[in-house]
Amino acid sequence: MTDSFNSLRMHASRSGEHICGAERLVGDAEVEAVGQALLHRALSHPRGQAGRVSLCVEQVAVDQIRRARLLALKTHQVASWPQGREVAARLLEGHGLSPDITTQAIAFLAHGAAAPGQVMRGAMLLDAATGARLEPDCSRGVRVSRMDLDTRLRPLLEDHLKDAGLSHPRIIEALILASKVTLYPEVIAELCWSDDPDYLAGYVASAEQGYQRITHLKAPGDRLGGRVLFLRSTHNIEDLMRRLQREPVLFDALRAGEKHETA
Ligand code: AMP
Repeated sequence: MTDSFNSLRMHASRSGEHICGAERLVGDAEVEAVGQALLHRALSHPRGQAGRVSLCVEQVAVDQIRRARLLALKTHQVASWPQGREVAARLLEGHGLSPDITTQAIAFLAHGAAAPGQVMRGAMLLDAATGARLEPDCSRGVRVSRMDLDTRLRPLLEDHLKDAGLSHPRIIEALILASKVTLYPEVIAELCWSDDPDYLAGYVASAEQGYQRITHLKAPGDRLGGRVLFLRSTHNIEDLMRRLQREPVLFDALRAGEKHETA
């Protein structure tokens, strides 16, 4: 049994431009190996060479860690990114979001949520009723941190996803992040697609509908992407940001049901 856990947070940038980041929550025995893997990722990312890399390791007491269940995953197979964005919009509207807000959120990710042509380092927080952006810094956003799989769950999850060809670390990382974000009742849903030019899939996630993977949300070579959290209006934004960034969560159980749908 591990006595303490450690939050690892990596961020790589070049001339202020976000290249990549990652966050893990691991026991003492894994810190060195995971730290090396994060540095390797920072130094060999398809978005380009990093000019600055930071790696922060902080101890987290075991009794502070919340335990939770991962979201169930299902895939929407689409033929093109425009079709994928239509599916994303339909899924978001199914959560009661208006077409205007949905279109606005998709446009932010498509054109650069930090500034035209530039990706954010973290997630956008969007008031689902008014469309107002609630994150204090529109370039930094909110970086969701301190979440991971319980070590016993990882092989089970990989096994569970393998048959569908979905055991890639990127999918697992995103599933963990979405599962943390949707623990908080203020979050209606999350929309994400990667800023990695080679990774074209994305998802819509929510506590009710799970993690809905969409096979194409952007064109090959596109360096823009990001995350939008759609929030209910009644919330204490500072407290939500604190939980997203600081509450440690380990996922130690799966939810049943892996389903494939064709849009
Ligand atoms: P990625 O899935 O790593 O390609 O990230 C896509 C985008 O999601 C990034 O450009 C960030 O804007 C955002 N993002 C990535 N990781 C996080 C995180 N831990 N918390 C919040 N936003 C994130």
